Amino acid sequence: SPPASSPSVPWVLAVYNQKGGVGKTTTAASLAAILAAAGSRVLLIDLDSQGNATTALGRPFNQGPGSYEFMVGTEPLEKAWQKTRYPRLRLLSASRLLAGLDLELTQHPHPQYALRRALGLARAPIDHVIIDCPPALGLLPINALVAAHAVLLPVQCETFAHDGLVNAVFSLNRLQATFNPGLETLGILITMRSTEGVGLTLEQTLRATFERQVLTAMIPRDPEVGRAAEADRPVVTHDPDSPAGRAYLAAAVEILKREQRLRDRLAQRLPP
Ligand code: ADP
Ligand code: MG
Repeated sequence: SPPASSPSVPWVLAVYNQKGGVGKTTTAASLAAILAAAGSRVLLIDLDSQGNATTALGRPFNQGPGSYEFMVGTEPLEKAWQKTRYPRLRLLSASRLLAGLDLELTQHPHPQYALRRALGLARAPIDHVIIDCPPALGLLPINALVAAHAVLLPVQCETFAHDGLVNAVFSLNRLQATFNPGLETLGILITMRSTEGVGLTLEQTLRATFERQVLTAMIPRDPEVGRAAEADRPVVTHDPDSPAGRAYLAAAVEILKREQRLRDRLAQRLPP
């Protein structure tokens, strides 16, 4: 076993859905803030050239090195990351350069592995890496899913949610069959749920199709999420007692339990 002083291998979670506007960034930022508040050393990676996760943590978009430089290997983690106003929570911020990275990576000898490689070289003590994926297919989310131990799928509770999720699961299965056979689906998180009839029906459809993959906790539609975004804060830190704030806390507890189960399974598969 490694000496006690060596940093532990971080647990990497990708927050993914090829659809935009489903709550990926809101979920990634809130989860990162909760884990850090609970004592974990967290790195949030903003892989979306829109930079919403960056501003959600109160950091400037498109300024200084960040996830782009880290992925192409021009800056090591300790140069590329930033502190945030939250203890133990660091950020690899987004820049407009990310928008062209997809194309640049095609020149790379192993374009799917750039992020995994960069994280593998990092020696900083980190417990959790959370990756906020852009709403697309292509090399950026593939890099996130190749670097990840597990994936969390936020799904907005609306009419086409079910079809979107079927597509996302298809992409995930392809990825597991090719570049990352060890990737686990941590779970599906229902977001922006309304309590009206349609919301309930959709929840039932999702639970019937995806069964235990769907987390018990659900994030309600809550205007406080928008107010938190305007204040450049994750909703859990802006108002932990808001309906969405409470729901994210409940979701985080469930996510940590599932993570522990996956880690135990992984440890059993590895030789002692
Ligand atoms: P994505 O990263 O998947 O594109 P976002 O997290 O940016 O999705 O959310 C899309 C929009 O919906 C944002 O304007 C966000 O503020 C809003 N939103 C997210 N979750 C909620 C919620 N639970 N209640 C109300 N609005 C939400
Ligand atoms: Mg986003």
